[in-house]
Amino acid sequence: MGGTRKLAVLAVSAVVVSVGAAAPPTATTKATAGKVPVAVGYGGAVASVDADASAAGIEVLKNGGNAVDAAVATAAALGVTEPYSSGIGGGGYFVYYDARARTVHTIDGRETAPLSADADLFTENGKPLPFADAVTSGLSVGTPGTPATWQKALDEWGSKGLRTLLRPAERLARDGFTVDETFRAQTAANETRFRYFPDTVKLFLPGGKLPVVGSTLKNPELARTYAELGRKGVGALYRGDIADDIVETVEHPPVDPASGWKARPGKLAEKDLAGYRVELQAPTRTSYRGLNVYSIAPSSSGGTTVGEALNILENTNLSKASEVRYLHRYIEASRIAFADRGRWVGDPAFESVPTRQLLSQRFADSRACLIKDDAVLGSPLAPGDPRHPVPCGRGGKAAPTTYEGENTTHLTVADKWGNVVAYTLTIEQTGGSGITVPGRGFLLNNELTDFSFAPANPAVHDPNLPGPGKRPRSSISPTIVLDRHGKPVVALGSPGGATIVTTVLQTLTGFLDRHLPLVDAIAAPRASQRNAAQTELEPALYDGDLRKRLEAIGHRFKLNPEIGAATGVQRLPGGKWLAAAEKVRRGGGSAMVVNPAP
Ligand code: GLU
Repeated sequence: MGGTRKLAVLAVSAVVVSVGAAAPPTATTKATAGKVPVAVGYGGAVASVDADASAAGIEVLKNGGNAVDAAVATAAALGVTEPYSSGIGGGGYFVYYDARARTVHTIDGRETAPLSADADLFTENGKPLPFADAVTSGLSVGTPGTPATWQKALDEWGSKGLRTLLRPAERLARDGFTVDETFRAQTAANETRFRYFPDTVKLFLPGGKLPVVGSTLKNPELARTYAELGRKGVGALYRGDIADDIVETVEHPPVDPASGWKARPGKLAEKDLAGYRVELQAPTRTSYRGLNVYSIAPSSSGGTTVGEALNILENTNLSKASEVRYLHRYIEASRIAFADRGRWVGDPAFESVPTRQLLSQRFADSRACLIKDDAVLGSPLAPGDPRHPVPCGRGGKAAPTTYEGENTTHLTVADKWGNVVAYTLTIEQTGGSGITVPGRGFLLNNELTDFSFAPANPAVHDPNLPGPGKRPRSSISPTIVLDRHGKPVVALGSPGGATIVTTVLQTLTGFLDRHLPLVDAIAAPRASQRNAAQTELEPALYDGDLRKRLEAIGHRFKLNPEIGAATGVQRLPGGKWLAAAEKVRRGGGSAMVVNPAP
């Protein structure tokens, strides 16, 4: 049933793309000039999808800032140059390694549903709303968590003030950035729905047209908003005049009546913004081949799902496995971990989430024993019960899986003291809700569509139904791996909705088990299995010989043109860092270090 629901949702969103859904992912085949996917050197490192954003972080590190300072500056710059993936209208999850204490800390800066929301948030006349109708509406807008995340991270671990750290981004917004092919393609894919909102047209369709590759796109309104946040603090967005503008925009979406688009209003109120709090919480920890893998705990399913799959894979010597066996095991471990995530993970403030048990080796072993070398587990696979692991137990009902958008951005930073940040931030779909806050220069998220719209199967508890002030389940998985001495080995993360989990898992095993250089582990063609009948493959795998060999075991595949856009940093001996990003996906990423090694 869960799979049926998911397919139904996907089908709906696919059909209505031309009338308002965010665009499906497209492959970007050309790397943008001026971007380097790998850099090695001293003094700290930054990896992001964008060269201006990485440069903002490097500028902060050069001026004596630490990794947290640089992460905030990089994120703010991404709000300018990657406004369809991130920004102050959205949320995210921040993972921080403190080199002095050798400890890992996290901030859950996820958007929350309005206090007025209930399980029927996305139903009308007793039926789930079409996905696209929900995306491009005020209904899907959650209280933004990103500004509060920045402030909390700086209060806890930063060394510089927000005002200073917003300056590079403010400059970038005022002076403009160069439009590349990816930006133009993302704008084109959203053009239809962007045209429903005159303020979005003004911002992203200059002169009413698609921005030209190579032209400069300025956002003076965002520059002013950043300046105001710098002056007054992020409180201005939660209680001040920016808060008023957000509430007004959500409650009365500024839609062009001539467009005919029915932009449903949301019920985000002043009290939702004023009451918003990030959660400072312990990371998840999974031991894997003598290392410790730290990531984000629920409300994201990232840490538990990557962690469970790693625990399952620990039963196989992946470094010696053939390519077919490696992929087979990776796909099956992902399938099982997704079956369990669907049943057990939601916002822990509302659901009883067995985080520790999901990450126990005993539970993983009980699930790993389902995997066969010569056959494929069917999907949707029923979940196990981590509270009472039964070896090889199967049966029960599969849990629903929600559709998640595939656009977000991830940045990874290290500083000269050895601190590390892995930070993934999002506005959900590419272009979020498509609604710009008039006069403020940023898009509002549609994060609440990460909730299940309705229980797919009344017989199975769905921990991801909307609720008042609840956080929708995420897949974001910013991850930091430490060695047995508590020193960083590697840190990474990716966008990609639910594929984030598989991208992080595949990249980790590529690097740790298959011993690929980090940049090659990131570049490797991806497969993504999320408890569905078919596993998604990128073209290099889909078109290759490996597919046939996996099909011979029983795997079924479908093509996904592009999965994820990861970045990472790796600690090398002697204070050296390696930053790595995509070679090609999304036009290639940008890796930089403060002082390049000769
Ligand atoms: N909303 C998704 C999540 O939180 C992220 C979307 C994306 O990565 O594109 O899991």
